[in-house]
Amino acid sequence: MTTPYNHTDYRFWHPMAHPNDWAEREPLRIVKGDGLYIWDDKGRKMLDGFAGLWCVNVGHNRPEVKAAITKQMDELAYYQLFDGVSHPMAEALSNRLIQMTQQEDMRRVLYGMGGSDGVETALKVARQYWILQGKPQRTRFISLKNAYHGVHMGGTSVSGLPIYRLNYGPMLEGCTQIESPWQYRNPWNCDDPDTLGKLVAEQLEREILYYGPDTVAAFIAEPVQGAGGVIVPPANFWPLVREICDKYGVLLIADEVVTGFGRSGAMFGSRGWGVKPDIMVFAKALTAGYVPLSATVLNQRIEAAYLDNRDARGLLMTGFTYGGHPLACAAGLAVLDIVEQENLPANAAHQGEYLLGQLLPFESRFRSVGNVRGKGLMLALDLVEDKASKRTLAPDNGLAFRIAEAARDAGAVVRPVGPKLVLAPPLTIDKAGCDTLVLALQT
Ligand code: PLP
Repeated sequence: MTTPYNHTDYRFWHPMAHPNDWAEREPLRIVKGDGLYIWDDKGRKMLDGFAGLWCVNVGHNRPEVKAAITKQMDELAYYQLFDGVSHPMAEALSNRLIQMTQQEDMRRVLYGMGGSDGVETALKVARQYWILQGKPQRTRFISLKNAYHGVHMGGTSVSGLPIYRLNYGPMLEGCTQIESPWQYRNPWNCDDPDTLGKLVAEQLEREILYYGPDTVAAFIAEPVQGAGGVIVPPANFWPLVREICDKYGVLLIADEVVTGFGRSGAMFGSRGWGVKPDIMVFAKALTAGYVPLSATVLNQRIEAAYLDNRDARGLLMTGFTYGGHPLACAAGLAVLDIVEQENLPANAAHQGEYLLGQLLPFESRFRSVGNVRGKGLMLALDLVEDKASKRTLAPDNGLAFRIAEAARDAGAVVRPVGPKLVLAPPLTIDKAGCDTLVLALQT
């Protein structure tokens, strides 16, 4: 049944927007989800082309996940992990994560509630690692332009999207961003992937040398940049980054909040690039969004630094009341079963390739589509004013928003992000689902 809308009906403000932008507008009010689909309060059925917010990777309303949460609710709805206390779900999920990241030599898990917590934990651990190594001056973080690492102060400081910092300074000291390895738009006008990968990697090396390797704690990046507009780096980029980090002892943090558990077509984004980070951050897909959770996973190098120490420098003074929440861990275990049993990373690679193939012709078919790109089931269409100069649409142009609204009427939700349209459907999508998305975008 349709509820008549009155903009005074609710009192929360929407994230990442000016409160006045939404004061008079009717929201898209989602009331139901099942499989690939969601329904709004007007009864419209739409394919969830953004998996909630890059997270509902196993699809909505999965009985296995609901049963796991309900069972846990009956047994123990909440307990904490402070003071040497534990519960079986947190133990089981940590063991599962370490088993899944064996290839990356991961050893320990620190829980939080969401991606921002996971990133903040990673940044703190990176600084503490250097204190433990007797090099407390190694505090600097280097990241990429267009990066998104959540909303806490550390994550905001390493963000490569200045708008997130605009009204919240001063930021954490010693954070800089180098160019993004973006083939379509880069300052060198370089569209050769190998050359571009080398150019950005060289910039990383220059940045480390400029400040001095003994001041740099870590380089943090997303294996495929998500919120910045699905920027897929050249294949040589991450291996070169690992080499440079090794050369100067810099820690490598992979923010896998979006790419973790299959989205980019490999189980982990960094694994897809053949690289072992020192720290991996997981959230979103870890529980497919059913209950919030993050896991910051540390490798043997970091574990050893803590275990080799017995004084106050090793005190891990970070943790969250709801980190490792039993309901979230139960959901996570059920979700990871589905990810493995249904081989969702392979499906993401396969369907993603098909979807990209269907969307690429938009570049020649539509005047405003300047570039279509993607990896696995993260895809973006860049809307431009002029294809030759790649001049982007003015921020107030609203075309992406209007296309997204039309797509809803045609049966799919896609996400307008500035002058871009971003797609990230559940990894359970099939060919028919991909066709629905493509059709909805064309109408
Ligand atoms: N890191 C990345 C790469 C993200 O995409 C996000 C969220 O989109 C975050 C961190 C922050 O996660 P959360 O919104 O759960 O705090």
